[in-house]
Amino acid sequence: MVRIGVLAVQGGVREHADLLAGLGVEPVLVRRPDDLARVDALVLPGGESSVIDRLARSMGLAEPLRRAIAGGLPTLATCAGLIMLADGVLDPAPGQQSLRVLDVDVRRNAFGPQVASAEVRLATAWGPAAVAFIRAPAIERVGPDVNVLAEHAGRVVAVASASVIALACHPELTGEELFHRRLLDQASRLAHTG
Ligand code: GLN
Repeated sequence: MVRIGVLAVQGGVREHADLLAGLGVEPVLVRRPDDLARVDALVLPGGESSVIDRLARSMGLAEPLRRAIAGGLPTLATCAGLIMLADGVLDPAPGQQSLRVLDVDVRRNAFGPQVASAEVRLATAWGPAAVAFIRAPAIERVGPDVNVLAEHAGRVVAVASASVIALACHPELTGEELFHRRLLDQASRLAHTG
């Protein structure tokens, strides 16, 4: 049985945990560096990226997170979680930092208030996905080892690297299982190959 951690610092923790439970996985809430050692994969929820950044650093989680994700821990990040991972953050909050483990640049709140909470059927490289956009970032630069999974309104909103799936939107709010299933597949493949 794979153990999937959900970073439980701020934001949509419960929604991801519920979706994982629906897939038959016991989610592990990650609040301390030790918790990371117990998981086969990780979800970084949406919320407010500047708050997650500040709390993660003050809880001593930022560096362990960076090390684990850079080391290949399969990771699914949504919205603020994507901002946490990005190499570059455009329009950051004052003092905001990111983990710099995904070779993309993102612009916070890129879609403005007009799509503040749009539900969209996204055509992704992995098939259709029903998702919600809530003050979503856009991905403005994509590095050579990162694949674009989907665009919305002419902007890149979903990408994947070897071990990271990163979305500007929220599949957990619409009950969309596509990306979490991919994360589980990745985690169980790794668990079986040791
Ligand atoms: N705008 C938020 C931020 O900058 C992200 C919004 C979200 O996660 N739904 O963190």
